[in-house]
Amino acid sequence: MNRNIDKILKSKPTIEGAGVHLKRAFGYHEVPLLDPFLLLDDFHSQNPADYIAGFPWHPHRGIETVTYMLEGRVEHGDSMGNKGVIFPGDVQWMTAGSGIIHQEMPKGDHGHMWGFQLWVNLPSTHKMMEPRYREVKKEQINEVAIDKNVKIRVICGEVENTKGPVQDIVVDPEYLDITMTQDTEFEHRIKRGYKAFAYVIEGSGYFDPDKEKLIDIEHLVIFKDGDKVKIIPDDKSLRFLLVSGKPLGEPVAWYGPIVMNTQEELDIAFEEYRNGTFIKHKLHN
Ligand code: MN
Repeated sequence: MNRNIDKILKSKPTIEGAGVHLKRAFGYHEVPLLDPFLLLDDFHSQNPADYIAGFPWHPHRGIETVTYMLEGRVEHGDSMGNKGVIFPGDVQWMTAGSGIIHQEMPKGDHGHMWGFQLWVNLPSTHKMMEPRYREVKKEQINEVAIDKNVKIRVICGEVENTKGPVQDIVVDPEYLDITMTQDTEFEHRIKRGYKAFAYVIEGSGYFDPDKEKLIDIEHLVIFKDGDKVKIIPDDKSLRFLLVSGKPLGEPVAWYGPIVMNTQEELDIAFEEYRNGTFIKHKLHN
């Protein structure tokens, strides 16, 4: 059974961090619509004033953040002395678990910056797990050509026996970057019961089998349940992120960069951040 469209959301201009102007596809106000996913931010700008202030030191607990860069780069560092740079085509899959304190500073390339950050929730059993970073270089991400008209970068999950480099994630996510040219269509199986969304980043296309609604850039499609999605580009090429994962079905207590199950757990997290006992595990790379 094909998955039909449940909802379409347009990403909204939002200011985050130390004054970064970005577009938010979904976030706090959409909970629990996209369970197990919490937030998707689109950083797309030709103007350094939009992003150069960055995201100075801040904590995370109870979630994973997935940063995927297309243009420009992000320099990051954490309170344990880890440092790195996320370059175009790279992915950083960071599991905050029990807690990390880090900073993320976007640096443009001739002014250009384009990237995405997805927040994936952790179940109550894993919220306090040991933190980890998975740095994935562009070269480690396989591109699958279904035919000459459909190309897929497999960041996480599996397409035609090609597995993405990011594995063993609790909510069993799939994260694909799909480019299609005109005069083609693409069907992809997604496990029944899993939440799935698409976010259009270039061109426009149809995300329902009946081609009832044309979806443009910076729009998010949330799918209803079913076995597969069917996607058809409009008269030009179409590029979109296709993401799915297993819903947690747990209560969400969320304030800023920390997402737990109860208000008491949130209070504890912020109290620990204030009194210097927030970090429970040292990070290993
Ligand atoms: Mn962060």
